Amino acid sequence: MAILVTGGAGYIGSHSVLTLQKAGYEVIVLDNLVYGHQDLVEKVLKVKLIVGSTGDRALLREIFANHQIDAVMHFAAYAYVGESVTQPAKYYQNNVVGTLTLLEAMLEADINKFVFSSTCATYGVPDAVPITEDQSQNPINPYGATKLMVERILQDFNQAYDFRSVCLRYFNAAGADPEGNLGEDHNPETHLIPLVLQTALGHRESVSIFGTDYDTPDGSCIRDYIHVLDIAQAHILALKYLIDNGATDVFNLGNGSGFSVKEVIATARKITGKEIKAELSDRRPGDPPTLVGSGAKAKKILGWQPAFFNLDDIISHAWQWHQKRHQ
Ligand code: UDP
Repeated sequence: MAILVTGGAGYIGSHSVLTLQKAGYEVIVLDNLVYGHQDLVEKVLKVKLIVGSTGDRALLREIFANHQIDAVMHFAAYAYVGESVTQPAKYYQNNVVGTLTLLEAMLEADINKFVFSSTCATYGVPDAVPITEDQSQNPINPYGATKLMVERILQDFNQAYDFRSVCLRYFNAAGADPEGNLGEDHNPETHLIPLVLQTALGHRESVSIFGTDYDTPDGSCIRDYIHVLDIAQAHILALKYLIDNGATDVFNLGNGSGFSVKEVIATARKITGKEIKAELSDRRPGDPPTLVGSGAKAKKILGWQPAFFNLDDIISHAWQWHQKRHQ
């Protein structure tokens, strides 16, 4: 079985390539390298990397003509919420138009299985937590809107064509390959755990706690942190589900419980043994107080069993990687 992994040079994509390899799949990566890391694909994962965009129809035709691809896992997307607000055109072009071009090329090449990286950002401010898949989706930023548009396109493709997909709506991806070869490396970095660990390494003076007056037990925001390898595992299960003729469906990847920003910082202090200065700061616009997802449907239908749901594991794996990559 050969799988085309778009965005395989990125954080979740690269961990999924590793997991696919370990499960015996052949992998080809397509990545435009705008935010991805060539060295991780070529030197660590050692798989074929095609540098290009999912919006490049001619390139896709060539890839599908030259390789026997059985299914596509689509991680390639821009994912900075703040940037999506200031540069929506960039987001709609890449995340929606680019994906549509990829889907059309798949139709042309008779490839009909697709696993899509969606997000809890498609829900916007949740009606209730833990969030289940049937809750209303009202994204509050262009990034979430682009992902929701692709979900709609996929439903319509399922109706009109012989084309099946699984959308995986991730909550907060975190952690790293415990063997220390892969991890999170965004530039710029905006995510809490890497920023906390960069502070532990002395690369930053302090980390800001965005909001301490939320309606949560300690006043800071609560998020559901999912280990990146558990997300990768869910992709393999989704792929197997589609290979076994599973119907088009959507699944949340959440642990059903969350940790506050203050708890994350306290755990990082314990794991790293460093002081990690934290400053109280204003709320970040657009942050819901609590985002926690129910993974019950993924567990029931896909057989998903997260292996690293405690925060100590997540942060210690991320810390090993940060020490190695960013020392
Ligand atoms: N956060 C924070 N300080 C930071 C970065 C993030 O307090 O420097 C908070 C943010 O407000 C949110 C949580 O940490 O409540 C997780 O944010 P992140 O950007 O990692 O992921 P998001 O939930 O936005 O996908």
